[in-house]
Amino acid sequence: ERERLLAQAQKPAITRDGHKVTVKANLELLDEIPLAIDFGAEGVGLFRTEYLYVVRKTLPGEEELFANYRQVVESLYPHTVTFRTLDLGGDKFAEELDLPAEINPALGLRAIRLCLKNPALFKVQLRALLRASAYGNVRIMFPLISGIEELREAKKFLQEVYLELKEEGFSIELPPCGAMIEIPTAVFIADHLAKEVDFFSIGTNDLIQYALAIDRGNEQVAHLYEPLHPGILRMIDYIVKAGHKAGIQVAMCGEMAGELLYLPLLIGFGFDELSMNPQSIPAIKDYICSLSFKKCRQLCEEVIDFSSAREVKEYLENWLGKEG
Ligand code: PEP
Ligand code: MG
Repeated sequence: ERERLLAQAQKPAITRDGHKVTVKANLELLDEIPLAIDFGAEGVGLFRTEYLYVVRKTLPGEEELFANYRQVVESLYPHTVTFRTLDLGGDKFAEELDLPAEINPALGLRAIRLCLKNPALFKVQLRALLRASAYGNVRIMFPLISGIEELREAKKFLQEVYLELKEEGFSIELPPCGAMIEIPTAVFIADHLAKEVDFFSIGTNDLIQYALAIDRGNEQVAHLYEPLHPGILRMIDYIVKAGHKAGIQVAMCGEMAGELLYLPLLIGFGFDELSMNPQSIPAIKDYICSLSFKKCRQLCEEVIDFSSAREVKEYLENWLGKEG
C-alpha cells in the first residue's frame, strides 16, 4: 500500500471529475528537499526562513542567505519555491535582535511588523531572495499582513531592493509576490488585497488563533482550537472567492491543509494549491484522486450555513462514510 501511495504521489492530483489541485510541501531546511520530492511535492508552498536566524547568536548576512536560498532554488528546479519573508517574533527569536519581552507576543512585534520596523534586517533578506530568484522559480510572500498599507509598504521595500540590485548590475526579474492571510481583517479586505498581489496563501495556524482568540501554543485552550468552526469556514470561503474574482491563485499552507478530514471541504472551496508537511502528501494526493469536485462543492454549500463546529463535523463524517 505504501508503495502504491508513493507511486501515485508522483502523478498530479486530479479529482474523478477532472479538477486539478497542486500539492506542495512546507519546508524549512535544505536537507528536506529530496524527501519532499520523493513524497510527490509539486514545489514548495511555504519555505519558512527563520531557521538561519534562530539557531545562533548573530544574524546571517546577505552572502550566507543568498548561498542558502540559491541552493534551495536550484535543488527544486524546475519547481517553484514560495519563500516566506521572516516571521520572527511571536515564538521565534533571533538573539542579536535583542527584542524586549512582550506580555502578548502573538499580538506583538512579529513577522512583517518586525521587518517593517527594521528595514536593514528586511532588506538584507530581500536582497538575498531576489538574487537567488535568478537561479530558478521563486515566489515571495509576506506573513501576517493585516491591511493594505502594510502590504504596500512591504512591496515598496521589495521594489526598492529590486531597483538597487538592477543598478548594481544583477540580472534579475521581480518574482511573483503574495500575501499570507492570517489575520481576520485581511480576510475581509481580501478583495482589496487581491488587487495588489499575485497570490494568496492562507496560514490557518495563525488565522484560527486570531479568529477564535486561542493561543496556538497554549494547551489549556487547545481543545477550543477548531478549524471546522463555521466562522472559520466562512472566512476561508470568502478568501478563495475574493482571490478568484480578482483572478489570482489561492493556496492554503497551514496545518489544516494536510488533514484528510478537511480535504473534501478544501477541494470544494476551490483551492488551487495545498501545501503541507511532506509526509502528508502521498495520502492527500491519493484522496484527492478519489473525490468528486462537484460533490465537494455541494458539501461546502451545505455546511457553510451550519451554526456549529459539531454540526459540521457530524455532517462531514457522515458524508465521508458515504462519499469518501
Ligand atoms: C500558519 O500560520 O498557518 C503558517 C503556515 O505559518 P506558521 O505556522 O509558520 O506561523
Ligand atoms: Mg503563521
